[in-house]
Amino acid sequence: MKKGFTDTRIFKCPRCGKLISFEENPYRPFCSKKCKMVDLGSWFKEEYQISTPIESEEQLKELGIEEL
Ligand SMILES: [Zn+2]
Repeated sequence: MKKGFTDTRIFKCPRCGKLISFEENPYRPFCSKKCKMVDLGSWFKEEYQISTPIESEEQLKELGIEEL
């Protein structure tokens, strides 16, 4: 049995903050393919552009958005 060099650290996905094992993860340092793709700015980009909910018209104006 191989011993001593297995990386079993738990890390936090830099994209979504999910805790995941470093081992057996082809998408590290991300938790999943999705997070990796998002970080690379691929086809998921648009979906994740708005990270905080817009709650008021004032906020929209601050952001320079007339309407969604
Ligand atoms: Zn993630």
